[in-house]
Amino acid sequence: MDDALTPHEASVVDRAKAWAAVDVAPVAESWETDRRFAAEAFAAAASAGLTGLLVPVEQGGEGLGPVALARVVEEAAAVDLCAAFSLVVHNNLAGALSRRGPADLKVRYLDDLVSGARLGAFLLTEPGVGSDAAAITTTARRTATGWVLDGAKAWVTNAAGADVLSVYATTDPAGGHRAIAAFVVEADRPGVRPEPTYQLFGGHGLGTGGFAFEGCEVDDGSLFVAPGEGFRAAMEGIDLARVLVAAMCCGMVRTGLETATAYVADRRAFGKPLADLQAVRFTLADVATDLAAARLLTFRAARTLQDGVSGAVDAAHAKKFATRAAEARLADCMQVMGAAGARRDHPLPRHLATARLTHYLDGATEIQDVVIARSLLGPSENA
Ligand SMILES: Cc1cc2nc3c(=O)[nH]c(=O)nc-3n(C[C@H](O)[C@H](O)[C@H](O)COP(=O)(O)OP(=O)(O)OC[C@H]3O[C@@H](n4cnc5c(N)ncnc54)[C@H](O)[C@@H]3O)c2cc1C
Repeated sequence: MDDALTPHEASVVDRAKAWAAVDVAPVAESWETDRRFAAEAFAAAASAGLTGLLVPVEQGGEGLGPVALARVVEEAAAVDLCAAFSLVVHNNLAGALSRRGPADLKVRYLDDLVSGARLGAFLLTEPGVGSDAAAITTTARRTATGWVLDGAKAWVTNAAGADVLSVYATTDPAGGHRAIAAFVVEADRPGVRPEPTYQLFGGHGLGTGGFAFEGCEVDDGSLFVAPGEGFRAAMEGIDLARVLVAAMCCGMVRTGLETATAYVADRRAFGKPLADLQAVRFTLADVATDLAAARLLTFRAARTLQDGVSGAVDAAHAKKFATRAAEARLADCMQVMGAAGARRDHPLPRHLATARLTHYLDGATEIQDVVIARSLLGPSENA
């Protein structure tokens, strides 16, 4: 895959690898044991120039395309998916702001997002609304000078440390997806109340939580995406987001395979290395096959998006396959290691717990099936 990268993109992938090795690996386990947000990983990513990956070079970012970005997050998640996904969410906001943000909002926030001085978050999901995102109930009411936001948001990655929130709200509760707008709101603004961060097995580093909006007044300049365009804007980056989740799964499975391969070469049972047992060899061969297949699907989808072609179905295939492969194959890697597979002195238990969460990120697995089935059979009244 790296042959397709420009020298600049390859240098960013190298920077991401160095960041993951130096700043993430030594502390990743502590986010789980201490049940806390991976704040220091984001700070180090800012120093490593990884916080403006989707922002064009002319606007101070790295201007990465989908293939390079997928390589960056694959390397990052090979060490820790939470640090990688936190970075993805932030970069998506910075990228969206640079692409479609009004000039005033860019002046207010873009430099700080690109430098990593401020951390971004994406607030679409609500306590009562997930997959059916067009049904959100958070309201934005027009006033003489701006807007008032009321409602609740849930499952906000980076909530524990976010400074800048992109909040999706409806300007007409009867208007469905045609009434959705987006606002950029500072997390410490009056009327914004953070909820306690979730206890999320394998996901503490994501700092995921909710926010309540209670009569939160914002000015006209805070309107990020006009009413009627918010739903399309929220979905605009969804295919890339799904490809990135798939790439992160590839990273975790690669670590699983490397860890298990090294272990079975050393460990002996019945007078010979575990690596001599056919059951062990074939299990790891299956892991390698799924990893190869997941990478092919992932980078095919990334390439489709890079070429500007509609990539919804390719992205859905990649995400569905890679997330399933991650959970099943990480468990296989742990199994060939015997009880040592379950010990937290190596990253596989953390990766396995996190792999479960990937089934929900950026659209649940069944929603990928909705996309794929629609491409085969046309729309259905049931999905
Ligand atoms: C760790 C984590 C981080 C997240 N970060 C963010 C974030 O930063 N910002 C944000 O806005 N959201 C975030 N989310 C929310 C995520 O996008 C949702 O969890 C996801 O969209 C699914 O919604 P839900 O969990 O409410 O499931 P529901 O919509 O309640 O669905 C429940 C089950 O029903 C199935 N289902 C639903 N509709 C259909 C259908 N039409 N056909 C077949 N099956 C269906 C689903 O697949 C699922 O299995 C995060 C989630 C997790 C777990």
